[in-house]
Amino acid sequence: MSTNTIIDFERLHYGGAAHKGINPPISDTSTFWFDSAEEMAKTFEGEAQHFLYGRHSTPIHAYLGEALATLEGTEAAHLTASGMGAISSTVLQLCQAGDEIISSRTVYGGTYAFFKCFLPRFSIHTHFVDITRPEEIAKVMNAKTKLMYCESVSNPLMEVANIPVLAELAKKNRVKLVVDNTFSPLSITPAEHGADLVIHSLTKYINGASDGLGGVICGAEEFMEALRDVNGGAAMLLGPTMDNQRAASILKNTKTLPVRMQQHSRNAHYLATQLEKEGIQVMYPGLQSHPSYVLYSALGNPEFGYGGMFTMDAGTKAKAFALLKNLQQERLGYLAVSLGSYGTLFSSPGTGTSSEIPEEARLEMGLTDSLIRFSIGLDHRIEDTCEKMKGCMRTVGIL
Ligand SMILES: *Cc1c(COP(=O)(O)O)cnc(C)c1O
Repeated sequence: MSTNTIIDFERLHYGGAAHKGINPPISDTSTFWFDSAEEMAKTFEGEAQHFLYGRHSTPIHAYLGEALATLEGTEAAHLTASGMGAISSTVLQLCQAGDEIISSRTVYGGTYAFFKCFLPRFSIHTHFVDITRPEEIAKVMNAKTKLMYCESVSNPLMEVANIPVLAELAKKNRVKLVVDNTFSPLSITPAEHGADLVIHSLTKYINGASDGLGGVICGAEEFMEALRDVNGGAAMLLGPTMDNQRAASILKNTKTLPVRMQQHSRNAHYLATQLEKEGIQVMYPGLQSHPSYVLYSALGNPEFGYGGMFTMDAGTKAKAFALLKNLQQERLGYLAVSLGSYGTLFSSPGTGTSSEIPEEARLEMGLTDSLIRFSIGLDHRIEDTCEKMKGCMRTVGIL
């Protein structure tokens, strides 16, 4: 399976014979010298392959890009300074004034705001649909549609995208399918199921340390070349460039991703199962009660499980807020946005990370104020964590 090849880092002989470090040298440079002015001119004209300038690409970008393209089973990848840098560059590369986007209605709050509030400035219009109903997509598809956008596992509702069905629809209508795979690296490989472009916020699981931001776009070499084209590339001209030091740091963390994902999945699966047994309403795609359980089981790579994220309903907003405070006091994790960290993070998405979505739309999709989102950490003794967590729930009257 292509996803396993991320472990084959030996294949990428970093730095060549001269250097022999097991990690590549950090490209501590913003610019690159040429042997001749002729060679420089050829590079600008796209006739020669040469590192040019740090906003375009650097050797450390190439190393990390190759690792992430391998992870997602795509030809190439382009790095950005954040997940939003990857999303905005991709969309602005694909769309121009007058074009339309079809997006899942449950996407990351920042993505939602970008589509809903920012893109209309450039006359780019987005239709938000329930992607579990392909007939709704067909209704809004038209000659102006340029791309379909979804998350493989949606933030924060844990809705799973039927990527093969969406890919077929996209192909039939000659539009690109862009999938944000931030919640499920290794666990789901969207390109294997027909996604054209796969995006990650590296800030989350892939880096896994909550110490910096990053983003990536994985897909065809031709699209990456277009993104960094000196005349028309959105990434080159808008400049959301990943810093070289950060790229080196993220590359080191990617090496532990397979074992981390397995542990995140194991821990979240255990907690979700135990909490459900206590009668709590839990949304975790690894539970048979989840509407997408069968779909995730068919799409996913079983050895990496169903991921480290779940939500639970605390009953009321007051109980949700009390639980969040209590969990932090008992040192079970941090009341913080973001996810994919070594430690557990929890938040109230309805009032926090998804508050960009209007209340009416939130209620319609089941994103209530009593919802708590968990990103479960790498706890060694999850049974103990579970007992402590249940204790907190008793304290605030949920159990
Ligand atoms: C966090 C997140 C983003 C945005 O990434 P940043 O690195 O914060 O810019 C996009 N999509 C999803 C699903 C996310 O969780």
